[in-house]
Amino acid sequence: MIRRYRVGWLYTMCGAPIPDATIMVEDDRIVSIEETGIWHDAVDLSQWAVMPALINAHTHLEFSNLIDPLGTQGMNFTQWIMEVIRYRQGFGESLAVEKAQAIRSGLKQCAEHGVGVVAEIATFPLMEVAYERPDVHVVSMLEMLGLDRGRAQERLDQAREHAVYPWSHENVTPGLSPHAPYSASKGMIDQCVALSQQHQLPIAMHLAESLEELELLERGTGPFRVMLDNMGLFQETDFPGGKRPADYIEQLASAYRAMVVHGNYLTKPEIALLKQHKETMSVCYCPRTHAYFRHDRHPIESLLADGIRVVLGTDSRASSPDLDLWAELQHVSETFPNIPAEQLLPMVTRDAAFALGLEGSFGTIDAGQKAMVSAFAIGSDCPDVLTAMLGGQPRLWNLGVGLTQLDLATA
Ligand SMILES: [Zn+2]
Repeated sequence: MIRRYRVGWLYTMCGAPIPDATIMVEDDRIVSIEETGIWHDAVDLSQWAVMPALINAHTHLEFSNLIDPLGTQGMNFTQWIMEVIRYRQGFGESLAVEKAQAIRSGLKQCAEHGVGVVAEIATFPLMEVAYERPDVHVVSMLEMLGLDRGRAQERLDQAREHAVYPWSHENVTPGLSPHAPYSASKGMIDQCVALSQQHQLPIAMHLAESLEELELLERGTGPFRVMLDNMGLFQETDFPGGKRPADYIEQLASAYRAMVVHGNYLTKPEIALLKQHKETMSVCYCPRTHAYFRHDRHPIESLLADGIRVVLGTDSRASSPDLDLWAELQHVSETFPNIPAEQLLPMVTRDAAFALGLEGSFGTIDAGQKAMVSAFAIGSDCPDVLTAMLGGQPRLWNLGVGLTQLDLATA
């Protein structure tokens, strides 16, 4: 059955926005786009602007039950990590149940904020039951910690299973996340890159996130050294000094798709290196988490000037007030008013889909793509659609299920 939707403004993300366009949908896929709305049976969405379903490129849904972020604003980064560890320990034996419940709640919160794709860092493998939500696609990126040699091998075995697991829900695809330079060994990252190549998996790694991380890499000292010493995980061979985030960028560059998460302290030579590898690499900026830790100004403008794909993530509710991706984009717009709004939209759609290896289904509105869209009420004769969208709140719509299930209350 073909369904038709006549929309006021269509932002396809593969060309200029189209006024008065009709989207044809069959089952759960878009069949075609027509530039004039001549169909008498089309659902009237003339007071709406429609774009591809928003993509949250980085979050940890296990923290979605938190009301407020952990710790205090501007705190030392390693102090915050200790808060995270304490929070998890607080659940004792019921941690797995808590995580599954928080992930389910997190997916619901994402959908309520117009988000249709979530790249979520999974700390337990194969949390299948938690991902049962057909309107939100989950990229389940298994977190890989590698400094504890005893547990590293077990985790690699889990990663191999994760990469090929026959998920019973169609809305799940796998990925891997070697966690960060202070928690994943060089060997572990190499193995992740090899699995990425073998199975065409996206990889995400927290990198150049804090000054403490840079100190550990450069000199093998600082708060991270103290933290790892206390955990019995510090080894000179892992942190000999003289290292930079650039070493990790080189390592990640040969993955199928690799995302540098945060990149708050990327320097000029590192940005030049990312530019060399921009066919496969992206940077994920988490704006309100960045603000929570009061990091130095983010290098997003330099990254964009070099044509590097920048995508946006909420990170988790352990460092951000909620899972509202559009609020993250609004934050970028306010912090960097020189970045045109047109350049912000691909960060949460087309470019994020590519970074996660999902460009064949998400990120653009085109024939063959999934019929999941984000919609903004703009009313009739809107003088400035983009500004109205920027100030608005997106709704997530599955155009494959028909009007009765669409929430058109304010249309
Ligand atoms: Zn993160």
